[in-house]
Amino acid sequence: MIKKFLNKVFKKRAHAIDAINQAENSLPSMAKVIPAKKHKIDPSLISDAAHKTCAGLHKAGFDVYIVGGAVRDLLLNSKPKDFDIATNAEPEEVNKIFRRSRIIGRRFRLVHVMWGRETIEVSTFRGHHDTVNPKAGDAKTNESGRILRDNIFGSIEDDAARRDFTANALYYNAQTQDVLDFHNGVADVKSHVLRMIGDPVTRYKEDPVRMLRAVRLSAKLGLKIDKATEQPISKLADLLHDVPPSRLFDEMLKLFLSGHAIESINVLRAQKLHHGLLPLLDVVLEQPMGEKFVMLALKNTDDRIMQGKSSNPSFLFATLLWHEVLKEWEVQKKNAPMIPALYNAMDEVIQIQAKKLAIHNRFVATMKEIWAMQPRFEQRAGKRPFALLANPRYRAAYDFMLLRCESGEIPMEIGEWWTKFSDAKSEERTAMLMPETAPKRKRKRMPKKKPVATDNGSA
Ligand code: ATP
Ligand code: MG
Repeated sequence: MIKKFLNKVFKKRAHAIDAINQAENSLPSMAKVIPAKKHKIDPSLISDAAHKTCAGLHKAGFDVYIVGGAVRDLLLNSKPKDFDIATNAEPEEVNKIFRRSRIIGRRFRLVHVMWGRETIEVSTFRGHHDTVNPKAGDAKTNESGRILRDNIFGSIEDDAARRDFTANALYYNAQTQDVLDFHNGVADVKSHVLRMIGDPVTRYKEDPVRMLRAVRLSAKLGLKIDKATEQPISKLADLLHDVPPSRLFDEMLKLFLSGHAIESINVLRAQKLHHGLLPLLDVVLEQPMGEKFVMLALKNTDDRIMQGKSSNPSFLFATLLWHEVLKEWEVQKKNAPMIPALYNAMDEVIQIQAKKLAIHNRFVATMKEIWAMQPRFEQRAGKRPFALLANPRYRAAYDFMLLRCESGEIPMEIGEWWTKFSDAKSEERTAMLMPETAPKRKRKRMPKKKPVATDNGSA
């Protein structure tokens, strides 16, 4: 019995020593090791879920690091919004360690580990395309060098070289609290520079979305884009036409909901990246009224996010495309009455947009509701204002209407009336109603239906 117990203890110890040796032997020679007292990352900013995921993989004998944006944010002393983890364990091995986990993705196979409401993304170190002989189906690029599929595993050095910016190629070891730095990222973060790893042109050709990421991350983090990293962007802007719409949509969403949308859009315009991004956005931004409205909407979104409030993507995309809807509405009014013309215009705008940017259907439905409610704010007589107020989308449609007032599209007085009306008590509301101006429509009497005889005699 005692022998069995001692055996068990020694076996565990041997396993732990193996794990330490393995970790030390695999410590990459190319990396600078930056200890906690130098980088000064506050471990309390790391979520429990991230700690538990690291501990689970470490215990099983694998190398494990917090990587990417999280380390960059920790160095800037801000709380990361999510944590990504990189390891030498393959997806199936990670999946076996954590009960609540699943393997996802095709382009990149990775594992989601779920801890309550938090999900940690665990990816296996990625290898180079040119150093490994890719097994058929594991890696694929198209003729312009864009990576289409990428499931070749490699060493931590390979993984670091595959990341986009030096600031994003830092590896934090939660056990030792050291940061491994392969590309001088810590110095770049400390001096607020965003620098591409490797040759920027090649890296943009591999993945044109990196151009948008450069803009977004520099605006969000207040980093200056390094000259060589910035210089090719405007020349390569057209490469974005190749990017699948769903990826473009996800990136745009991140960009607009980063809390720095105004800054981002200004840089996008300066780099000529806005052309062909939202195909209608370039047109909107070129009309003074449209530009004023979009900028007000983005400012409003930035303010909300900075105050820690949520912001609805449907609302945002509804604002971005509103002036195109208005323009198309004018065209459609020639062929149809007011309201059906508005519906036709909405469909037309969404259809053009969908070719470039796959706005998810669930967002499209809400966008249309917000747009369709706009003419109803001009009706302030009878029962209609009460019905509008009771609509579940009233709040979003009202906020949208206020932006229309502020941008000068409709009189300010309409917004003021609705603000007062929604705050008022019910008898005050009735007193506020405007007199009916339009003649009341007479209801047509429907001819009474004769009961239809059926086989069993019931009508
Ligand atoms: P955010 O704070 O917005 O999440 P992030 O840099 O963490 O910024 P993610 O999309 O979460 O962005 O990506 C995580 C990490 O994956 C990045 O830090 C980077 O190392 C790597 N990465 C993401 N997209 C690319 C890309 N297109 N090319 C190369 N590396 C990328
Ligand atoms: Mg991230």
